[in-house]
Amino acid sequence: MDNLHNKLQKKHNRAERSWSQVAPFIIQVRVPVPFSLKWVNSYLLLENKGTFTIVDPGLRTAEAEQLWESTMNELSLDWKQCSQIIVTHQHPDHYGLAGYVQQKSKAPVLITKASKDYTDKLWGAGRPHFEREMRELLIAHGTPDTMVDAIINNLREFQERVEPQPQVVYIEAGQVLMAGDRYWDLIHTEGHAFGGIMLHDKQNGLLICGDQVLSKITPHVGVVAGEHRPVLAQFMENLKKISTLNVSLVLPGHRDVFAEFAERIESILQHHERRLSAMLTYVEQEKKVDAYTCCEWLFGKHLRNQPHNLRFALTETIAHLQYLQQRNLIVETTDSRGMIHYCNNERR
Ligand SMILES: [Zn+2]
Repeated sequence: MDNLHNKLQKKHNRAERSWSQVAPFIIQVRVPVPFSLKWVNSYLLLENKGTFTIVDPGLRTAEAEQLWESTMNELSLDWKQCSQIIVTHQHPDHYGLAGYVQQKSKAPVLITKASKDYTDKLWGAGRPHFEREMRELLIAHGTPDTMVDAIINNLREFQERVEPQPQVVYIEAGQVLMAGDRYWDLIHTEGHAFGGIMLHDKQNGLLICGDQVLSKITPHVGVVAGEHRPVLAQFMENLKKISTLNVSLVLPGHRDVFAEFAERIESILQHHERRLSAMLTYVEQEKKVDAYTCCEWLFGKHLRNQPHNLRFALTETIAHLQYLQQRNLIVETTDSRGMIHYCNNERR
């Protein structure tokens, strides 16, 4: 293993690469994604007996497959050495390549039942139903028809990016997993993805956190069509809860690793408080507004040409409006056509 360690050090120093060693025997691989996030971080946890665990292999695209093949070559690794594939949450940029890696390695894919159920809903038997629910949600919140179609079409494009879908083994929060010769506590996350988990090596203060806490960008928190969960409240509560964990290095799903875990959580919470306060002022000024109008006010009209980003922005806007409504700061109304508006609460 020491030899491998030296080799990794040498290779890493040689040039800017798509991978780097971010902790002893943990390699971060930047797997490209064809949208603004640019890449998703995958982690290889190297094991003494010559095997490795892979966490969140990425989205299935030709570029990602190519990147993996060259990375495996550079690291002198073979897919057959892969002992298990762990998926922190069901979003396609994390889950999409799990089946592909499973085909190459024959390794088990570990994911929570809630996450797997969600993948069935989006890319399995539940798909037609989910599309209907998504369309209804978008229309009810004031999205123009052309944009509704663009968002639905964009969602469909993800189908081929998660195929083949893996055979899975269920894991759940509270369990302890051995991976990369370390013990990891599986910790429940909420708000970003229902059923998500983080991996915490409490002895060494390492946290593989999926998208729950990211440096520089704020994790997406949006409503999911057909579900009625107070996602923003759950996200903020979950952040407060996990902020006390012993963490000296965060290995996130996007962007760079970072050390200031509790501080980063604090600034994400402040970001949401600021946004909530700005949106409350906006609704009070407008007196009555739909989520789509509010979304354009927040994020700009340029998203009309970016259905993927528009979906993120709109579902996030709805999550914030619902948060304000759940606290009786604003009122939600539904008219006879099923259109939802948010109004100032005159009784405040
Ligand atoms: Zn995600």
